[in-house]
Amino acid sequence: MTVTRFAPSPTGHIHVGNLRTALMNWMIARKSGGTFILRIDDTDAERSKEEYVDAIRADLEWLGLTWDREERQSARLDRYAAAADALRAQGRLYEAWETPTELDLKRKKQLNMGRPPVYDRAALDLSEDEKAALRAERGDGVWRFKLDRARIEWTDGILGDLSIDAASVSDPVLIRADGQVLYTIASVVDDTEMGVTDVVRGSDHVTNTATQIQIMAALGHDHPRFAHHSLLTGPGGEGLSKRLGSLSVRQMREAGVEPMALLSLLARLGSSQPVELRDTPEELAEAFDLSTFGSAPTKFDEADLRPLTAEVLQRAPVAAVDADLAAAGVPEEMRAPFWAVMRENVGTRAEIAEWWALARDGATPLVADEDRDFVAEAFGMLGEPPYDASTWSDWTGRVKEATGRKGKGLFKPLRQAVTGRASGPDMGDLMPLLQAKPKL
Ligand code: GLU
Repeated sequence: MTVTRFAPSPTGHIHVGNLRTALMNWMIARKSGGTFILRIDDTDAERSKEEYVDAIRADLEWLGLTWDREERQSARLDRYAAAADALRAQGRLYEAWETPTELDLKRKKQLNMGRPPVYDRAALDLSEDEKAALRAERGDGVWRFKLDRARIEWTDGILGDLSIDAASVSDPVLIRADGQVLYTIASVVDDTEMGVTDVVRGSDHVTNTATQIQIMAALGHDHPRFAHHSLLTGPGGEGLSKRLGSLSVRQMREAGVEPMALLSLLARLGSSQPVELRDTPEELAEAFDLSTFGSAPTKFDEADLRPLTAEVLQRAPVAAVDADLAAAGVPEEMRAPFWAVMRENVGTRAEIAEWWALARDGATPLVADEDRDFVAEAFGMLGEPPYDASTWSDWTGRVKEATGRKGKGLFKPLRQAVTGRASGPDMGDLMPLLQAKPKL
């Protein structure tokens, strides 16, 4: 039975990077009929906010990424304490008192000597008296996991065979001096106790994975299958970290991005399979194949969401936009004919209201100075609504005869005068939707 999880820290809104991780784990679970856990990594009580927990749930619901179970790390502190005790009993967890400044100094010295900046384990050499003195002076220390200095190897679902020398990694701090349990051990305990079989996360977690594999082994557990996806960059290859705030799911939703546009893009970005719009997250899951993903940084361009969003709307049956049509004030009997014309022409749902306002009230005409007399004359030749499917061709036919204009010189000024825009739906289709005669 496959079990995956998405483990956000509720310290902000989820962004494209988090979402990509969530989606991959969700697809793995759904494709195999397994379980997908939403795990809230909230051991950092100071930075974790309930409003973000709510926002994460709301964002996932909006996207249609359902979860089977929700877990919270803050409710499992006793489990982490038990695991820490087990490690202590084996001599794998030791207390250390260096201040950040002292650690920084050690690192600088090591780098100056051309050595990797790995924690020197000075705390392991402290006598009981020295420890007591440090405790009296500085209070509780941090608790570090004593790595076994061997190679840590695993076959990564994306990166292939990996081998990391534990001697090149500092013993990770699992518990802070203030007693706060850190993600590294909390995640290990959760992944093993919750039976997680597959973990996909960003390649910034590769070193974590190495240390977590050893912690799991020390606690007597096998590790799940790990896969590390490449990180997203901007379209020019620049890091996204500074812009991630503006690439939150929230903001994209507010900008009118459709959930399936976002999911369809993120499901394939960085893989050798082309981006294709799918109608449901389940369809994406069916076609998901982790082995098609590569290790190169993956470019994300928000602009790619525009055509995909337009495509979602083009495909949408009237029932799927009924609430938007209603909110825009489209009368019930007009919704189907209005949508039949507009679905090809709206970039986002927000444009539904703009087009309906135009159909109902008319546009602010766009008329070039040299066309003013021509448009006035033409408008004089147009009757009152209701208009029908032949109104446009009949009208422009009469205008052509009266003015001698034809082709672009005839149609373009009239389109712009009626709609206030240079492009839009076929005018023959649009005219029957107009509720009022266009005015100059
Ligand atoms: N809370 C961690 C993060 O957001 C989870 C990482 C993981 O998937 O293990 O980075």
